[in-house]
Amino acid sequence: SSAIVFEGVSKRYPDGTVAVEHLDLTLPAGELTVLVGPSGCGKTTTLRMINRLENPSEGRLMIGEQDVMRIDATRLRRRIGYVMQHSGLFPHHTIADNIATVPRLLGWNKKRRRERVDELIELVGLEPSLASRYPHQLSGGQQQRVGLARALAADPPILLMDEPFAAVDPIVRHRLQQEFLDLQRRVQKTIVMVTHDIDEAMKLGDRVAIFEPGGAVAQFDTPSRLLAA
Ligand code: ADP
Ligand code: ADP
Repeated sequence: SSAIVFEGVSKRYPDGTVAVEHLDLTLPAGELTVLVGPSGCGKTTTLRMINRLENPSEGRLMIGEQDVMRIDATRLRRRIGYVMQHSGLFPHHTIADNIATVPRLLGWNKKRRRERVDELIELVGLEPSLASRYPHQLSGGQQQRVGLARALAADPPILLMDEPFAAVDPIVRHRLQQEFLDLQRRVQKTIVMVTHDIDEAMKLGDRVAIFEPGGAVAQFDTPSRLLAA
């Protein structure tokens, strides 16, 4: 299973900043957990430790039965999709090539890549004709869809999303959130999403971890139980 378990995890940056303080948290497999809280309280650091863009200074971080520190970082990242606030697309690659990035690294043949790209374009609700365009020819909302398609390309069991809808205008954001809810039900992955928007957290999360300044989690529960408290 792909549950993600933090056991007493702390992260101190080289300059002495303590970004995450003794985190104990189990993110259940197959659920969408939202990390929410004001800026600077350690959400992104927590997310980035899962695919080892940052390493914990203390404690243990497990994915299923495996200690993350013992998994080769490159292999780990091929099992974990990552969506950023700004889609991070390669500007000189077409949309299709951007989406096929990981499949290409994995050595999938052209036919298989092409079929997968077509499937993903449909899955994330993009016009098929956009496949041969370049990122700058797409709107912000379309670029975020491409970022999501790219992250899902090799069907990773885990998906990490850092403020995926923050950079698009509010109407587009509303639509993307709705569609993402539907998509999440179909793809059944362990998803961890960072946001500073409590409404978004309550709307999308199966579980919500509320961070507080100092990099600790104040509350962790389902939205309905958090609202009833
Ligand atoms: P959030 O995602 O909640 O905004 P972050 O995880 O980005 O929080 O940051 C947590 C704390 O760690 C903040 O005080 C931030 O300034 C600090 N921080 C983040 N990245 C670094 C870094 N590379 N070096 C030093 N301090 C950092
Ligand atoms: P290369 O020749 O460098 O391998 P291609 O541009 O032929 O690259 O293809 C790159 C990837 O994008 C492949 O996985 C291919 O199947 C896919 N691809 C290219 N164009 C399209 C398209 N119009 N629709 C769907 N998939 C495409």
